[in-house]
Amino acid sequence: MIEFKDVEKYYGDFHALKNVNLEIDAGETVVLIGPSGSGKSTLIRTVNGLEEIQQGQLLVDGFDLHDPKTDMNKIRKNVGMVFQHFNLYNNKSAIENIMLAPRLVLKRDEAENKKIAMELLEKVGLADKATNMPSELSGGQKQRIAIARSLAMKPKALLFDEPTSALDPEMIGDVLDVMRDIAADSSMTMLVVTHEMSFAKAVADRVIFMADGQILEDSSTASFFEKPSEPRAQKFLSQVA
Ligand code: ATP
Ligand code: MG
Repeated sequence: MIEFKDVEKYYGDFHALKNVNLEIDAGETVVLIGPSGSGKSTLIRTVNGLEEIQQGQLLVDGFDLHDPKTDMNKIRKNVGMVFQHFNLYNNKSAIENIMLAPRLVLKRDEAENKKIAMELLEKVGLADKATNMPSELSGGQKQRIAIARSLAMKPKALLFDEPTSALDPEMIGDVLDVMRDIAADSSMTMLVVTHEMSFAKAVADRVIFMADGQILEDSSTASFFEKPSEPRAQKFLSQVA
């Protein structure tokens, strides 16, 4: 579903991704961890074209993102992204946030659109908040609406960049529960940047550890948490776990 081959990414002179090789199969749930500034957001943002790569190949759903002929709108339809700061449309209700992109991009029939949006509100436990404005929702509720909004496009893959790090501790669990549900759907591919190690342990098929723009470790979840082979990963784990 997602394949990096010898990928290099620069911001001006700064070398942000160094020789990244990574394969994520359809249906896999992969957690990406690493110190601040290691390139996690950069890596995840390249997958839906929010950041360009300068060298190598990045294949997403069969399309080469480095090829100027690739239609990025097609990629973004199939690859959803959930950010740390929700990015909801503040002048639209919860359900309108969910219905907007399917209406505009997929031209989904209005009745069908509403039905799917209600099902998704149900799924994230917020059916009673359909007509609330974002300002009337808690951070955790906003994030669950943002996740429902991504799901409304029926993407093949979902990218999460620290979806719980802006939340108060008591709201984190509800968001992680929703993500766990999504990961249980065997057809959904998920790449998640998070510091929630218990989530990683319980849900991830694999853990990837990055430092200084490089992937230093790519292991099954069990072997990563048993004993990461990289000293820097060991050190990181002892700090966050
Ligand atoms: P954090 O855990 O703090 O979110 P991260 O692992 O997500 O960190 P990135 O945001 O990917 O790290 O940043 C990786 C490196 O690239 C950092 O050194 C950062 O300063 C640099 N960087 C990120 N975005 C830009 C940009 N737009 N222009 C220049 N440098 C950037
Ligand atoms: Mg980041």
